Amino acid sequence: MIYFVGAGPGDPDLITVKGRKALEEADIIIYAGSLVSPKHLDWAKDNCEIYNSAKMHLDEVLDVMIRGAKDGKDIVRLHTGDPSIYGAIQEQMDPLEDEGIEFEVIPGVSSFVAAASSIKREFTLPDVSQTVILTRMAGRTPVPEEENLKSLAAHKASMALFLSVGNMDGVVKALKEGYGSGDVPVAVVYRATWEDEKRIFGTLDTIVAKVKEEKIIKQAQILVGDFLDSEYSKSKLYDKTFTTEYRQGIQE
Ligand code: SAH
Repeated sequence: MIYFVGAGPGDPDLITVKGRKALEEADIIIYAGSLVSPKHLDWAKDNCEIYNSAKMHLDEVLDVMIRGAKDGKDIVRLHTGDPSIYGAIQEQMDPLEDEGIEFEVIPGVSSFVAAASSIKREFTLPDVSQTVILTRMAGRTPVPEEENLKSLAAHKASMALFLSVGNMDGVVKALKEGYGSGDVPVAVVYRATWEDEKRIFGTLDTIVAKVKEEKIIKQAQILVGDFLDSEYSKSKLYDKTFTTEYRQGIQE
């Protein structure tokens, strides 16, 4: 069996219990060494074969998985955060399916939620935003034109940008055009939940200089929107006058 496992954002204790069990039982682990902590490997069996996919291309990764699966081994493919977000797993799963090899995906804590927890904020505040946009600036991987940052920003929804801090100038320029203002709260969280995590707060007008000062060029979440700093309404769910399926509201 092959398990695609989300390792979580950094802190090795943020893997799921199911993911940790799969690691403990694996005969082969292929981990994404660029962003996954090697501490996860402390749970591997002594005789486990370990590969760092940062040094491998797709065909090499597939060869290890297919060979292992045909030998009846348990294999963990350990990805950073949650594997379904910028994880490049579809291109691994489809060839396995073609070969008739069974696999399962075990989700993980994505870095965008880890970043929100680090700065103690909620993306979905009543009367502020009820939507979260996960996106990125185009890099070597293009972004479809309909999803350009300016048009996404025009929604004024809460946003989390992956893979983009290396082009902070471009990010801020597009967001300002979309928002029509530079007075929009931004937080940059570098290596959320790792020991060297950094948290930077500003606005579209001030954030570029702050990020440059901290020399952050990769491994960061850029969170944008009024959810970071604004008035909001309290939820209906916990409003004492509101009746729910579980609780009778109190009339004042
Ligand atoms: N699947 C991963 C994302 C992989 S793409 C997930 O769910 O988080 C890699 C990008 O994720 C990085 O460029 C960065 O933007 C973000 N990222 C990954 N780990 C991070 C962390 N600990 N803190 C902040 N951003 C992180």
